[in-house]
Amino acid sequence: MKTIYPLNPSAEYQLYKTEIDAAIAGVLSKGTYILGDEVKNFEEEFASFTGSRYAIGVASGTDALYLALKAINIGAGDEVITVSNTAVATAMAILQADATPVFVDIDEANFTINPELIENAIGPKTKAIVAVHLFGNAADISALTKIADKYNIKFIEDCAQSFGTYYDHKHVGTFGACGSFSFYPTKNLGAIGDGGMVITDDEATYLKLKGLRQYGWEKRYISESFGWNSRLDEIQAAILRIKLRHFKSTLKMRIAIAEKYINGVKNQDIILPVSNINAIHSYHLFVIKSLKRDKLKSYLSENNIETLIHYPVPIHQQPAFARMSSQPVLKYTELVSDQILSLPIYAGLDDANIDYIVDKLNNFR
Ligand SMILES: *Cc1c(COP(=O)(O)O)cnc(C)c1O
Repeated sequence: MKTIYPLNPSAEYQLYKTEIDAAIAGVLSKGTYILGDEVKNFEEEFASFTGSRYAIGVASGTDALYLALKAINIGAGDEVITVSNTAVATAMAILQADATPVFVDIDEANFTINPELIENAIGPKTKAIVAVHLFGNAADISALTKIADKYNIKFIEDCAQSFGTYYDHKHVGTFGACGSFSFYPTKNLGAIGDGGMVITDDEATYLKLKGLRQYGWEKRYISESFGWNSRLDEIQAAILRIKLRHFKSTLKMRIAIAEKYINGVKNQDIILPVSNINAIHSYHLFVIKSLKRDKLKSYLSENNIETLIHYPVPIHQQPAFARMSSQPVLKYTELVSDQILSLPIYAGLDDANIDYIVDKLNNFR
């Protein structure tokens, strides 16, 4: 039997191949390859989808978070509260903005930041909280925005894994100063290369972001401020527009897979993920826990089911970060990193394969 991959962006390409191929050809023959109508239209459609006033396309999800921090004046000497169980990009973006990440532990059940631990981590240098809506599960936004308001610090959302996630009936990324998104190919809305987006409701922040992504230009060749090069290109935008048009249906496919796992897996050795209260999970990843994780992973692999671990080593324990002066104790972050396993989930994974995976999971001892 064929290997079942944990993620498979080419399966989604196959679903919309005709339209995607035509869109690529259209951009190639039109001849505008950087910041043209595709990007402009995609930004408008993305803003409309998420319910934000502005959206600005950038080169990656890492850049989206980095530039969002810069746009709201987070920089040298500032501390930014976030989690250690996330893509390392979250912390790298904070460092790239010259700020210092301060890691807070998570809630063991839903894998997102534990709001009760935040006040202890707030000090005179704290300028922002970056919430990560991990695996497609929204963090406890209501508690987080209350804390941010109380201490007069900024609230930013890293939504790289949560396009299609709602909290209190609003799309994530719309609750704070900015929301950042990634179009890395395996993400819920994935390009065929790198790409990212920042959303905001604030016009001044939007204008700043436009300068930051292109040399500080307001008019071509005239730099009004300092800026870099972090542009989304036309081919990616054209592909993303097609995927956005089909997004409701690809999201349904993800949720249907998650529901099959949730309803079908009955094994004492496997703990299923839980949605946060008030959140509609978009199941970017389907992450289970097991005390026999390593054994389970090899067993599945022997049965041609490949899985991943998001993430095997928490950020604060990775070599680049372990040298940082104060080492936090993050009990649950460390605990779950030995137990988590990401099961196959992607648009285009068919029912027969999911039934097979559920069956194998139920027969694991
Ligand atoms: C993927 C990801 C990023 C980075 O996105 P890139 O487009 O790869 O730069 C940032 N944060 C989280 C939580 C991610 O999953």
